[in-house]
Amino acid sequence: MAERLPTLIVGGGIGGLATALALARCGRPVHVVEKSPEFGELGAGLQLAPNAMAVLDRLGVVGALAAHAVHPRRLVWMDALSAERITEIDLGEAFRRRYCQPYIVMHRGDLLAVLLEACRQERLITLEPGREIAAIEDLGDAACARAVDGRSYEAELLIGADGLHSAVRPLISDDALVFDGLVAYRGTIPIERMSAHAGLDNVVMWVGPEMHFVQYPIRRAELYNQVAVFRSRRYTPDSDDWGTPEELDAHYAQTCDYVRGSLTLMWRDKHWPMVDRKPLASWVRNRIALIGDAAHPMYQYIAQGACQAIEDALALAVSVARSSGDVVKALAAYDALRTRRAARVQLTARAMGALFHLDGVAAAMRNEMMAARAGDDYAPLDWLYGYRL
Ligand SMILES: Cc1cc2nc3c(=O)[nH]c(=O)nc-3n(C[C@H](O)[C@H](O)[C@H](O)COP(=O)(O)OP(=O)(O)OC[C@H]3O[C@@H](n4cnc5c(N)ncnc54)[C@H](O)[C@@H]3O)c2cc1C
Repeated sequence: MAERLPTLIVGGGIGGLATALALARCGRPVHVVEKSPEFGELGAGLQLAPNAMAVLDRLGVVGALAAHAVHPRRLVWMDALSAERITEIDLGEAFRRRYCQPYIVMHRGDLLAVLLEACRQERLITLEPGREIAAIEDLGDAACARAVDGRSYEAELLIGADGLHSAVRPLISDDALVFDGLVAYRGTIPIERMSAHAGLDNVVMWVGPEMHFVQYPIRRAELYNQVAVFRSRRYTPDSDDWGTPEELDAHYAQTCDYVRGSLTLMWRDKHWPMVDRKPLASWVRNRIALIGDAAHPMYQYIAQGACQAIEDALALAVSVARSSGDVVKALAAYDALRTRRAARVQLTARAMGALFHLDGVAAAMRNEMMAARAGDDYAPLDWLYGYRL
């Protein structure tokens, strides 16, 4: 017998828990299944821009986040070869006034812990870790999810918040992940081990030929987060033997002393192929909808994957609240609110990668043009950071 539920969320990452909270705050009971034995996050740093902070504020968790957040002073672009400053965005008072929210950086585990605690305090949310969903069926007037251990659930509304390799997405699209030969190494170190070349209180983005290197402080500035990305020349679609630590070192050999020195502090035991997908025209089928990376996986180059998942959460809850119990109508409204915006963010992340990774004359032109912009020229960012539901 299937367990009957008003709402089932498959996946308890940042997107799934934010959605559970948003729906419960609107009065809807939610059950979350998560395949890992514990709710938690892999990886380290996360940047949260004002568009996501505005949602987290509405969900009532900004106070709890404050204990873990770092408020960087600037987003700085540096040339990874010449060590010259290219441009910056001032994240100070004028930025906060414009967007009515700060730009923060934090440990992603701390964000998940805050969301988890808020979910545990919500009587309308039940959390079930250690339950992996193997198959989803669209029954028309309900959605059925079957776990690997045979347990099944029948839900009036089913949300696929199960990330990049979503088990729910195949019901909506048969598209494939897009690999581009790019790979990321990431990790944290105690902040005392870093020298303050580009400012330890900034988010610093070193850009260079087919590579970029991101650095920022997290966890009350006790830790320093680093992400090194490069394009592997050994990439082929039918092999896993690419993006090795040796290739990382060889690719970064061209960079300035500071970047090469910082790279020696990186973890080498694990690396992540960078993938995205082409935007979909719809994330909905009857009573089933996708959110977060299951709906719109994107390159992390403009630090918006989780921010968009958080925007999805509120959009879904608002759509459900406005549809007087009509789930199909609610999901159509959610689709209309979200797909075009997330597609623009996905495509912008790709385009930004192309800009980071330029070489030679094209890189010199990029640097010259960007040097001309003022640190408080926020207008081009309004569509992204100023978005509110
Ligand atoms: C290097 C890097 C840096 C990034 N930096 C940023 C940043 O600074 N800012 C930003 O906004 N974004 C950033 N992102 C993107 C961000 O991490 C993701 O977009 C975000 O985590 C997506 O959240 P999600 O909840 O949709 O998916 P996930 O985090 O993937 O969560 C999915 C959850 O579903 C569970 N699950 C999967 N399958 C099943 C199943 N079958 N049954 C049950 N449970 C299941 C998983 O265990 C997981 O807990 C970065 C990404 C990378 C790779």
